[in-house]
Amino acid sequence: MIYISKYKERLFSIARLFDAIVEDVIIVPSVKEWCSLRGITETSEDRAGKCVLNLSTGKHLILLATTISDDEKKSIIDAMSLHGFSLAELESLTDDWKFVKHLLLHECAHAFNSSFSERQCDCWAFDKIKESVI
Ligand SMILES: [Zn+2]
Repeated sequence: MIYISKYKERLFSIARLFDAIVEDVIIVPSVKEWCSLRGITETSEDRAGKCVLNLSTGKHLILLATTISDDEKKSIIDAMSLHGFSLAELESLTDDWKFVKHLLLHECAHAFNSSFSERQCDCWAFDKIKESVI
């Protein structure tokens, strides 16, 4: 089980690098519930992360689930394995911190370009990690 609060400070400092487009990172027990309380459509019961546009500021909020189970983590990595990423890239994500960092950057990618596909967001996140800026 991954407890996001353990990585909070490090995640917030990464998000600050994108403060032109990301206004906050919010850690929530349930992404679906947070969304439904605000009239935002979310059908998945166990979303690990989501990027939401704040219409009043034009910036994005990134939601991260408080906990990510091993099964959720595995299903996210499995889905990515269908998108042609290298074994080294996929294996790097077995490390919890690298997984969480990639997840946050994936959501930042949605903020960066709302027309990016899931694969493009994953690529963008890997690129940021490779650039060693993060
Ligand atoms: Zn996504």
